[in-house]
Amino acid sequence: MPIYEGSCHCGAVRFSAQTELDSLLRCNCSRCRRLGWVLQPVPAENFTLVSGKDRLTSYRFNKKVIDHTFCSVCGVEAFANGRDREGNALYMVNVNCLEGAEYDPDTVTSFDGASY
Ligand SMILES: [Zn+2]
Repeated sequence: MPIYEGSCHCGAVRFSAQTELDSLLRCNCSRCRRLGWVLQPVPAENFTLVSGKDRLTSYRFNKKVIDHTFCSVCGVEAFANGRDREGNALYMVNVNCLEGAEYDPDTVTSFDGASY
């Protein structure tokens, strides 16, 4: 499985994620609609925060089960984390923050986060 390096815009927050880009999602919840980002779910064991832990600001809304972490310097949310329906720790990675991530927009599916 490929390993992607990712970062926020200013580079304070860096991470790596081992994943295929095979479950690309566009979510319709009130926050994701505003961000317009494309997400790839990554199991927590395949995600490593390399730097910037002290720069991350946490934002939670609605049921407050998802930790939306964005860079306090540049404002970019490179990933969020929470749990899947089975309770496993999961990261939702912002595919647009990954270096060299090429994907076909037609493979992005809709996720009904608004009713989650
Ligand atoms: Zn930043």
